[in-house]
Amino acid sequence: MSLLVVGTMAFDAIETPFGKSDRIIGGAATYIAYSASNFVTPIKQISVVGGDFPQQELDDLAARGVILEGVQIKKDEKSFFWSGRYHMDMNERDTLDTQLNVLANFNPIVPDSYQDCEFVMLGNGVPAIQHSVLKQMHNRPKLVVMDTMNFWMETAMADLENLLKDVDVLMVNDSEARQLSAQYSLVKAAKTILAMGPKYLVVKKGEHGALLFHGDKVFFAPALPLEEVFDPTGAGDTFAGGFMGHLASTKDISFENMKAAIIVGSAMASFCVEKFGTTRIKEITKEEINARIAQFVDLVQFDIKLV
Ligand code: AMP
Repeated sequence: MSLLVVGTMAFDAIETPFGKSDRIIGGAATYIAYSASNFVTPIKQISVVGGDFPQQELDDLAARGVILEGVQIKKDEKSFFWSGRYHMDMNERDTLDTQLNVLANFNPIVPDSYQDCEFVMLGNGVPAIQHSVLKQMHNRPKLVVMDTMNFWMETAMADLENLLKDVDVLMVNDSEARQLSAQYSLVKAAKTILAMGPKYLVVKKGEHGALLFHGDKVFFAPALPLEEVFDPTGAGDTFAGGFMGHLASTKDISFENMKAAIIVGSAMASFCVEKFGTTRIKEITKEEINARIAQFVDLVQFDIKLV
């Protein structure tokens, strides 16, 4: 079952209390594709890069089953660039710089060969671009999931509200859920957001796990307590890749299976933070993934006798 992914493929410069990187490969769609490729192929990617984006990275993605027909290469332009700084509490970060570059005039084109995709992941990016991709699909996909961030709430809220009406699952972090809904309580925030269009809401809470809301139902998945956290960049996208990869490979979009998908996403995100950038998610094996999912099961399993 093919998965369509749209989002940024980028250069990032990251500072954490443990180190600093120069321009390294990042971007929402890059992380999503690497993560999801452990569960489902082909992944049909839509993005735009400049002539500065390394061919080697495109080759690495292709070798993982990522189809790049929908990735435009603007030879004379520069790739999207983002720079961020994390402090000791790595659940919070400051964006130091966002340079749209090639993204500023990006007009995504969905190739005919992508029309069979029943699962669509609208990775973090310009809401109008996310919407354009969705509108180009001839048939309504089985499941449409979208991510967004505060940057787009501040610069393109009207487009974002329009898009929300057409998606099944919104995936955001806790501060974004609060900003979007103007509610502090996440339960109230979920009610407000679910009334804006999506049927499901996933709220990522970094090292405090993730919540899944649907109607009056709620599910909570923890994050694995890790000894070393080097760089949380891309953890949200890696989570999304695991979540979508699991759903697309099982073809089951029930609430029960979404719970399992949240655990898979959490397990994938726990790898991502262990090294800078995409390093860790490019090297993990299926055995490591399965072992980590088993650790999640152990983490939350307990017996209780009510007296
Ligand atoms: P995450 O840590 O999962 O939220 O995602 C980090 C990735 O998102 C980085 O690799 C950035 O290149 C990318 N990114 C940062 N800001 C934006 C933005 N405004 N739109 C799209 N992608 C972004």
